[in-house]
Amino acid sequence: MSPFLDLPPLTAARFAAIEDRVAALLHTTADVIVTQGEALLPLEAAIRSAVRPGTTALNIVTGPYGQTFGGWLRDCGAEVVDLAVPYDTAVGADRVAAALRAHPETSFVSLVHAEAATGNTNPVAEIGAAVRAHGALLMLDAVASVAAEPLHTDAWGVDLCVIGGQKAMGGPAGVSAVSVSARAWQAITANPRAPRRSYLSLLDWKERWTDAGRTALPHAPAQLEMLALDACLDRIAAETLPATIARHRAAAAATRAGLRSLGPLAPYVTSDGHAAPVATTVRTPAGLDARELAAAALRSDPAVPVQAGGGALAAEMLRINHYGPAAALGTVQASLTALAAALDTVRADGVHTDTLHSDGADAEAARGAAATAWTAALAG
Ligand SMILES: *Cc1c(COP(=O)(O)O)cnc(C)c1O
Repeated sequence: MSPFLDLPPLTAARFAAIEDRVAALLHTTADVIVTQGEALLPLEAAIRSAVRPGTTALNIVTGPYGQTFGGWLRDCGAEVVDLAVPYDTAVGADRVAAALRAHPETSFVSLVHAEAATGNTNPVAEIGAAVRAHGALLMLDAVASVAAEPLHTDAWGVDLCVIGGQKAMGGPAGVSAVSVSARAWQAITANPRAPRRSYLSLLDWKERWTDAGRTALPHAPAQLEMLALDACLDRIAAETLPATIARHRAAAAATRAGLRSLGPLAPYVTSDGHAAPVATTVRTPAGLDARELAAAALRSDPAVPVQAGGGALAAEMLRINHYGPAAALGTVQASLTALAAALDTVRADGVHTDTLHSDGADAEAARGAAATAWTAALAG
């Protein structure tokens, strides 16, 4: 007997109930469509549905996902204004408002909330107010922020809010969701280029599912992922959403405090207020390749959620993930211990001795600093 096989069919009523639970998690009364794939599916679907040739789109780039969005926006024929900020900081609402003033024809704005890849997080409430005042639609990639920090879709004026189960929700990567405001539906319905009869079609789901009263599913649901998503929502409800969020914030605070105690490894995002609660990125000292350090940390403890940074930052940045079950003091401390051991290893190799002072890597002190910060974050 396998718990994964021979399951009774997932009913339309169960599917709709899970959508309603996701809507509650996002604090929205808008339609929520659960999409049958990893979160890149609803992100691409949202852009291709709402954007058409001639649309002016403001694409806020605070990490690699923003670059991906820019590609899709151009592919849709949009005039794209990229507002790029250095990856070690957040974008300010004032800069967004200035970009909108400079490009008054802007009708679509894409923004990432928290970036797991670069470790930063953006002030969506303030940015959302600026976008709403301008009258443009706001698409938010909240994959790495849902359940890790407050997410108030309606109050913040987010028109298309995309989430996935695999980060702070601690769930499956194979299912995701997007909320669609009435204003977004207007734009999508009026777009002759919006995907139809396509896996990327939000309109298909509107016509065949949402507007049809959610009584018959248009396709066979991704049943295991839906059950796992429901189980995630059960677990968040049992812990409570505020406690889940507080645990992620505490994990970020503990990781940052531990890194500062370790010495030569600095948090890549310098301001605590701009730091994402799901992952802490680490800048390695000049001359020390981050891939080398991450590999040494994983040799010391293969179980820690430490990985080399990707793409252009691979040599100078590594990443400590602390989302889902890994948002725990013990896991953070294990990551710090592994990094301290990795620093010892590269020191013992005799290289980089100019940048790595031997007073830095005290694993015990780092664990203590993490514990103190963890407790303080949960108390505050
Ligand atoms: C993790 C993440 C996603 C999902 O992408 P994967 O490539 O599956 O990890 C999307 N957006 C953001 C901001 C993320 O952090």
